[in-house]
Amino acid sequence: MLTLFTLALLLPPVKSDYSLFNYGPNVINQSFDERTIASQNKNKNEQFNRLKNELEKAGFEVIVALPPKRGAYGLLQVSNRKIWINPVVFDLHIALPTIIHESVHASQVCAGKGEITTLGLTLEPINQARPFFQHYRDLHRQDLEREAYTVQTQPNSFELALSLLRQHCQLN
Ligand SMILES: [Zn+2]
Repeated sequence: MLTLFTLALLLPPVKSDYSLFNYGPNVINQSFDERTIASQNKNKNEQFNRLKNELEKAGFEVIVALPPKRGAYGLLQVSNRKIWINPVVFDLHIALPTIIHESVHASQVCAGKGEITTLGLTLEPINQARPFFQHYRDLHRQDLEREAYTVQTQPNSFELALSLLRQHCQLN
């Protein structure tokens, strides 16, 4: 009998997009800010869709709906390769880090050939990410979450998540 193993993303450490635009009012006018934000959002939507497509190619079903675990932003069920993305993440502007986090768990499922295993990443997590995985008392679980939060908080998180998925799930 398979135990239902779920990996849920509860509260990712994500800064608001808008905090990136702390220019003084004399430096850049408002309409420029708005255009920049709009183009960054478009870029993030494209990256979200690309990761979703790659996950589907790797045999995962990506469902945008309330996950079966209350309070989760994203969730992966190992036994049936289903990934839930809570629709609220689009309003919170954290859809991209959420799917990046779950795609790391998907790579862990591919690497474990049905089980779930760590990828053996040598990257160090940023300090702000530590509280998000250090509270797991199960050390295997803590290692799995450490990898997901580490990738999620890298400056090149999208490219990294994509390449891990391609490597471990043998996508071209
Ligand atoms: Zn997780």
